[in-house]
Order: sequence, then structure tokens, then C-alpha cells
Amino acid sequence: MDLGLRGRHALVTASSRGIGRAVATSLAREGASVAVCARQAEDVERVADEIGAETGSTVAGFVCDLSDATSIDRLVHDVIERFGTIDVLVNNAGGPPPGSFERLTDADWARAFELTLMSAVRTTQAVVPGMRARRYGRIVNISSYSVRQPIPDILLSNSLRLAALGWAKTLATPLAADNVLINTVGPGWTRTERVTQMLVSRATAQAKTASDIEATLAAAIPLGRFAQPEEIADVVTFLCSDRASYLTGTMIPVDGGVVQAP
Ligand code: NAD
Repeated sequence: MDLGLRGRHALVTASSRGIGRAVATSLAREGASVAVCARQAEDVERVADEIGAETGSTVAGFVCDLSDATSIDRLVHDVIERFGTIDVLVNNAGGPPPGSFERLTDADWARAFELTLMSAVRTTQAVVPGMRARRYGRIVNISSYSVRQPIPDILLSNSLRLAALGWAKTLATPLAADNVLINTVGPGWTRTERVTQMLVSRATAQAKTASDIEATLAAAIPLGRFAQPEEIADVVTFLCSDRASYLTGTMIPVDGGVVQAP
């Protein structure tokens, strides 16, 4: 299947590692020029060089703090200055911290609102006028399976990702008139650096091994294992492609079957 991504220009936010990096690599492998971003200059420069060397595509690194509106404006401006257009936008961000209702403060909620909801709203606001004018665009939001089945004690994520889903679904209708399609992918447990660190810290707290913790979590997943980031990236890449021409406003869980709702 020719995905038609060759020659397209993509911005993948929060892409120095994990799912974002896997998506950037996959899009570059399909021939898109890709802008990667994260907060640390040395990380984005290294990752851009590595993905560019691995795929042969143009990959450029940009520094951005996605919780900051000015930083997002600058990011989109600089990517358009470099590539001319942004045809594909993948909204990814670091996950908000876990925490129970009693422990979360107003400041925790405000930070999560900026990072989980407003980062995607702001990047989308900045790229949509160009996409509408060219009557072409693909926007994919990286969310979590928690929008279908809440995960205990990650209240910020469970709450604000539903706000982002409602926003994306609502936006899908007016954007469709200009062939700008917006969809959401909900990863299940995925073997990224962040998850590896989480397994180690849970293991330490419970005097177990990280493998024990992983095995317990994997036992609740019908496919019996965590995803690799590339398995999430494959679905995202399809949604970013010309071939995903009749899908908008959807949420696709990529979760190994963990969500029990039909
Ligand atoms: P990760 O920690 O491995 O990578 C996060 C990326 O975000 C890094 O590149 C980091 O530099 C960047 N980042 C973080 N805060 C940023 C900021 N303020 N500005 C710019 N860049 C920033 O995470 P991951 O496991 O790849 O997860 C990516 C997203 O998917 C998160 O929102 C996470 O909650 C969600 N998710 C992950 C899983 C999983 O099991 N890994 C499951 C469901 C949902």
C-alpha cells in the first residue's frame, strides 16, 4: 500500500523518545519530511540526526515546551519557515503525573490542563488555517485507552484526555468541509522509557522485580504483553496518510484488547 506520505511535511510534538519518536521515525521512513520537538536542544538535535540517518528523509529538530503558548507559536512558525507547510500534525505530549483525588492540587490540575489539552489546541489552531487553505490536512492526537476505561489513580489523565477527545470530535465536523481530518489514537501499555521507569519505581516500592510488575499488568491484557512503540506508530502513520481518507472524529484504541467495552 502506498501511503502517499512522500513529500508531505509533518510535525510530531514530544518526539525525542517513546511513542513520539517512533511516530516520527515511521513517517520519515514513508518519505515525509519530519519536524521533531522536545524541551532539550541536545536531545532534539541528536534524535533528528539519528532518524535522518536511519531513514534518509529530512528530519529537523526544534526546541519547544508544549506547556507554554509562546513556545508553541514559535515552534509552528519555525517549522513552517523551514518546510513551507505543515500537512500532518501529530499531537503528543508527556503524560500528566499520577495522583489520587485527595493529593492533587489546583496547580497540578492547571499544569495538566496546559500540557494535555491546551498543547494540542494551540498547535492545531496554528496549523489549521494553512491546512484549510490547501484543502488538505491530517491531525492525529495521541491519547490513552483511559478515555474508554479509566485507569485507577491517574485522575488527571483520565479527566483531561476526555476533554481533548470531546474537542477533537467537535472539531472534526467543521474541518471535514476542507478535507482536514482529525483522529485520536489510544495506546494501551507501551514499552517506552517512561513505562520502564514506572515499572522500576513500582517494583522498588513493592519489593518486587520490574518483571513481576510487568507480568501482573500483562496478565490483564488479552494479547498478554505490552505494545512496542512501533505498533502504536504504525496505526498513527496510517491515519496520517492519504489512504486514511474517510476517517475523521474517531478514537482508535491500540491496546492489545484491554478495553472491555465493545
Ligand atoms: P515518554 O516519556 O517516553 O516520552 C514523552 C516525550 O514527551 C519525550 O520526548 C519528552 O521529551 C516529551 N515531553 C514531555 N514534556 C514535554 C513538554 N512540556 N514539552 C515538550 N516535550 C515534552 O512517554 P511515552 O510513553 O512515549 O508516552 C507518550 C504519551 O502517550 C504520553 O502522553 C503518555 O501518557 C501517553 N500514553 C503512553 C502509554 C504507555 O504505556 N507508554 C499508554 C497510554 C498513553
